[in-house]
Amino acid sequence: MSEGAVLTELLFLLLPVAAASGWWAAQRSRVSLGSAATAKDPAFFRGLNYLLDEQPDKAIDVFLRLAEVDRETVETHLALGSLFRRRGEVERAIRIHQNLVARANLEPEARGFALYELGQDYMRAGLLDRAESLFHELLEHRLQPERALRALLELYQQEKDWVRCLEVAEQLRVRQGVPLHVEIAQYHCEIAEKALRAGETPAVVAHLDQADASDPGCARALLLRAELASQRGDRAGALDLYRRVVRQDPRFVREVLPRLLACLADEAPAAVIAELTRLYRDRPSSALMLSLVEAVRAGQGEPAAIRLLGDYLERHADLGGLARLLELRLAQADGKGDETARVSLRVLRHLLAHRPAYQCEHCGFTARRLHWQCPSCTRWKTIRPIEPEPIAELVPGSSDGRHDEPAAVDIGPRPAS
Ligand SMILES: [Zn+2]
Repeated sequence: MSEGAVLTELLFLLLPVAAASGWWAAQRSRVSLGSAATAKDPAFFRGLNYLLDEQPDKAIDVFLRLAEVDRETVETHLALGSLFRRRGEVERAIRIHQNLVARANLEPEARGFALYELGQDYMRAGLLDRAESLFHELLEHRLQPERALRALLELYQQEKDWVRCLEVAEQLRVRQGVPLHVEIAQYHCEIAEKALRAGETPAVVAHLDQADASDPGCARALLLRAELASQRGDRAGALDLYRRVVRQDPRFVREVLPRLLACLADEAPAAVIAELTRLYRDRPSSALMLSLVEAVRAGQGEPAAIRLLGDYLERHADLGGLARLLELRLAQADGKGDETARVSLRVLRHLLAHRPAYQCEHCGFTARRLHWQCPSCTRWKTIRPIEPEPIAELVPGSSDGRHDEPAAVDIGPRPAS
């Protein structure tokens, strides 16, 4: 390995993400350039010295003035540009990549890498129009087609241009064989949702049908169908669809429940209790239990609601449920409740107000409300409600009073010492 290659490897040590992504390997195996040994140029090493001395602008000036670029120096330029972008120094990254792209002697494949990186710089800088035209240029010249299409998809998602997202997803499917069933269904749902607000019923139905065809049983499409039924005054139809959403995908229970309860507004309390009990037995969740408690309170009175909630809390570490129990107890005591209950309720309300209700199962991003697309990792259908942990029954003799094990884990009996 030449000295230039060693230094390029060194740069990549600063770039663990790029190295892990296989990008490095792709570069190594695919970039092919002339054999001019520019890495032997003293200026090249002067540039790297500036870089190691934390003088990035002087380093960039030296690299940009290099008369020739060969295989190793292209790799160094690309690594350096990527490093700057990942450090948030987008202007520096753009300077490096623009200089590479402008080189007349660059081979097409290396030019493809440089154009792609420059497109990513523009995306990062919010210059979406420029990024878009670069990715299209890559496609026209059949350079990096899959990466260019994926970048365009990301760009159109950022712009919420769902029609274009569908076009690109289709190209990815046909040209690259990349299946994007979930994404395509979500794009159709986005368009259907907009059409629903605009009262364009035929468009709503058409896009929901396509969402279903792409991702059969898509809960979001069901939810939108229910809204459409509701909008048309078909309460029974809407109720049936809301039930299906709850049974099919418990992630959306919190969104569905207020609408489902609105469909039951004219029903007798006993019917509402029976409905919620059936749903809870099928798919238990905190939101369903708390709604059931309210229905029992309305239909059977506070003592019955308190018993039901108390029984549920024996088995679930549910802070929201606990706060509601304290509220019911204090209301029952008619303001004469003890100070401890009042303080506990205040603490719980504070905790609940600052606690996320949803979490992305892919990247761990937490949120206060449901997002169809994770704002952090941009995946679809990965945000789930955070459900309370079950409380394990304590095995007699298993606790010695030390809190060295998580309470929600069945710890089992300790071996005799
Ligand atoms: Zn995520």
